[in-house]
Amino acid sequence: MAGSSRPETLNQAEIFDAVVAAYMAAGWCPICSAQAAFGRQIGFRQVQPPCPSCRGLQPPHGFSNDRSRSWAAGKDHKDDPS
Ligand SMILES: [Zn+2]
Repeated sequence: MAGSSRPETLNQAEIFDAVVAAYMAAGWCPICSAQAAFGRQIGFRQVQPPCPSCRGLQPPHGFSNDRSRSWAAGKDHKDDPS
């Protein structure tokens, strides 16, 4: 209870929701939108690659960088045999 709360939790939750909403508005499915939000927080190598119908879509404006674009293209997964 007292003194054990983590002050960053709410802020990170708000950012997470904002990223999910932005991806869904850009045409991504809810599952991949959540993966992208996790990837932004913990690293895109730590999450699943986009599903076949989302792979190749562009990350939404404001959340597009080298890491997210590489993930969006399906290039960022070590287990990908191609
Ligand atoms: Zn998807």
